[in-house]
Amino acid sequence: MIEMENVSKWYGSFQVLTDCSTQVSKGDVVVVCGPSGSGKSTLIKTVNGLEPFQQGRIVVDGILVGDRKTDLSKLRARIGMVFQNFELFPHLSIRDNLTLGQIKVLGRGKEEAMEHGLKYLDRVGLLAHKDKFPGQLSGGQQQRVAIARALAMDPIAMLFDEPTSALDPEMINEVLDVMSGLANDGMTMMVVTHEMGFARKVANRVIFMDGGGIVEDCAKDAFFDRPQSERARDFLAKII
Ligand code: ATP
Ligand code: MG
Repeated sequence: MIEMENVSKWYGSFQVLTDCSTQVSKGDVVVVCGPSGSGKSTLIKTVNGLEPFQQGRIVVDGILVGDRKTDLSKLRARIGMVFQNFELFPHLSIRDNLTLGQIKVLGRGKEEAMEHGLKYLDRVGLLAHKDKFPGQLSGGQQQRVAIARALAMDPIAMLFDEPTSALDPEMINEVLDVMSGLANDGMTMMVVTHEMGFARKVANRVIFMDGGGIVEDCAKDAFFDRPQSERARDFLAKII
């Protein structure tokens, strides 16, 4: 579903991604990990065209991402993205946060969008909060709303960039639980995270990045039990 072939990217003369290749199939849950500055955020943002790249090829569900002729707004509508800082619209109620994209981007009617949005709000356990504003919810609750909002767009895949790293510890699990549920339902996911417990339990594959390159890309057990590179072994020794 996601094919990445020798993708390289530069910021000026600084090369941030070097020859990154990977494939994500339908239903895969791929955890992307690696040291700070290794290019994890940049890599997943290239997938939905949020970050342009200069070399290589990315195809998502048959859509060529780097092509100037590709309508990126269509692609982004089909790929859900959840960031570290829950980017809900602060001036809109939870209900309106859930429906805005469906109405504006997908052209759904108000009622249909509301029904659909509330279904996902219920699924993340927050239906009772539908009339509140983001500022009235905890960080973990806001992040669950952000996930519900992304799901209401009926994405073909979800990208997560450190979705729990801005949360207080007691809120991390409620968000990881929602993500585990999604994975169990067969959602295709790429997840940048330092939560190795989540990776061990939920991922089927792990990509380890260092210095802008994909150093390891393998089955979860192989990564945790038999990391091939010195750098991955160092990383695991520090983080676990
Ligand atoms: P972290 O774990 O800290 O989030 P990361 O692995 O997500 O790190 P990226 O954010 O992808 O790393 O950044 C990779 C490298 O690119 C870093 O060295 C960073 O300083 C650099 N970089 C990121 N964005 C820009 C930018 N807009 N201009 C120049 N350099 C950038
Ligand atoms: Mg990052």
